[in-house]
Amino acid sequence: MKQAEQATGKAIVIGGGFAGILTARVLSDYYSEVLVIEKDEYPEKPGERAGIPQAFHPHRFTDRGKQIANRLFPGYEDEMIAGGARSVRNKKLYFLNQYGSLEMQNPDDDLKFSRALLEWVLRRRAHDIPNVRFMPKHEVVSLLTNAERSAVTGVRVSERSGMRRERELAAELVVEAGGRGSRLSAWLTELGYSVPEPNRLQLSLGYSTRRYRIPSHLAHLTEMWDTIHISGQPAQGTFGGVFSTIEHNMAELVLSRPGGQYPPVNANEFEKAVAGLPDKLIADIVQQLEPLAPPRAYRIPELYCHCYEQMDRWPSGLLVIGDAYCIYDPVFGQGMTVAAIAAEMLGSCLREQQSEPRPDFAQRFHRSIKRVIETAWWFNCAADLQWERVEYAGPRPLKGIEFGCRYLDLFLRYATERGDLTLYGLYWGVSSLGIPPRFLFHPETAAAVLAATEEGKRLLGELAAEGEELADALFRILPEHFIMMDDESAKEWAAIVPDERKSTAPNPG
Ligand SMILES: Cc1cc2nc3c(=O)[nH]c(=O)nc-3n(C[C@H](O)[C@H](O)[C@H](O)COP(=O)(O)OP(=O)(O)OC[C@H]3O[C@@H](n4cnc5c(N)ncnc54)[C@H](O)[C@@H]3O)c2cc1C
Repeated sequence: MKQAEQATGKAIVIGGGFAGILTARVLSDYYSEVLVIEKDEYPEKPGERAGIPQAFHPHRFTDRGKQIANRLFPGYEDEMIAGGARSVRNKKLYFLNQYGSLEMQNPDDDLKFSRALLEWVLRRRAHDIPNVRFMPKHEVVSLLTNAERSAVTGVRVSERSGMRRERELAAELVVEAGGRGSRLSAWLTELGYSVPEPNRLQLSLGYSTRRYRIPSHLAHLTEMWDTIHISGQPAQGTFGGVFSTIEHNMAELVLSRPGGQYPPVNANEFEKAVAGLPDKLIADIVQQLEPLAPPRAYRIPELYCHCYEQMDRWPSGLLVIGDAYCIYDPVFGQGMTVAAIAAEMLGSCLREQQSEPRPDFAQRFHRSIKRVIETAWWFNCAADLQWERVEYAGPRPLKGIEFGCRYLDLFLRYATERGDLTLYGLYWGVSSLGIPPRFLFHPETAAAVLAATEEGKRLLGELAAEGEELADALFRILPEHFIMMDDESAKEWAAIVPDERKSTAPNPG
């Protein structure tokens, strides 16, 4: 494991999806050969394939994810534009939730595209790296280990066509990036490892997506709109609807809802459900467009978050990344960003390992990415547990989640009712990992949010019942890194929340 020209050894990545591609890019700096094994045949142009059925559905790529992709594949956005991605700079964003609506022009030079285009561009870039090789149409069927089973030494692969021959491939490092179909827990169990139960969120989420062509006489719609985001409303049980446009004059619309009431896939029923959204804006637009095909469904019975980092025994030479570790409610657009952050962290961990080799490298990597995974997971649970019939079923309780559910709802209400785009942006920025959670739970902000409504005052009263200052109560209730406020973060916070708003906030506690 050496950087650049001194790199030696072979690394294998299981799965050539989003996390696998970024991981291969990072590993190419440290290993002389990186082999990405993918069970699917890759399409010749941006398109669907069986291994990522979610690709038909809208994929929001957050600012943080885009920044990382750009560091790993500089200039990739130029290729996205060449592939038809469109800029939404100065185009309109409209948000509606149970507390009101907000709108703004997108000030950023942000691109809109399908998941298939993103993956295709990144994969082509990875293909161009001389020491990265893709091996499509091969499935990893098990891990190879040393005699003591203390180290992973490679994988066994099976052809996915022809004779379906199996063979063994050796490697110094194997990274599991097999996504939500990962069989890692079963493989480890077969090898005699004791794998903890994952935490689960029983979500029963339904997604139904329909694509439309925007006829040329309606091209002004593409010029006008970035995204229309109508949030599902837990108290009313309404579907959420998100409308946006992607490459090649196509628009996509997803209806979704957790809690077991699925949005329709029948075309007529789907359009009726669109007309029944709490705002007619989307229906008014899509009725002018040409549907390209019937809506398509995706169901997610439950989310899982593995606890691999807690295993006392873990084979050296094996890492896990991406959806194979944890999956999220796609409405929050976190999955690709968490995978991108983890891939970048892998680079830092490999650099550290190079200068100061440690035998517990794999578990140290897992523990560092778990902090990011847990943040995304916590926000997911706090938002989704507001829905009826959504239940947390993990063996480990989530610290502060009851407070989180109530506070996030009050925060959303506070930001929306004031038409405060900075705070609204903070809410989404934190849940999509662009801004650290400590800004959302800053004691001054929390005091203002809680003092603004009767429900908030009740919550404040409950917190103050033990005679604590609000800051101390938050510190006690929430995960530790959600509330850390050192001098440096106080300065950053002042830049996010302007002084005049802070001065209107009552004293905490
Ligand atoms: C409906 C839906 C909508 C979503 N929307 C968003 C969004 O808006 N924003 C966002 O950030 N995220 C979104 N996500 C999540 C996002 O798709 C994932 O987080 C992301 O794809 C994770 O990448 P991955 O590489 O871990 O998994 P994947 O991209 O799923 O790739 C896994 C790959 O591994 C291959 N594979 C699996 N097992 C093997 C094996 N044994 N041998 C060889 N190959 C194997 C598969 O064929 C596949 O190519 C959404 C997910 C869903 C379900």
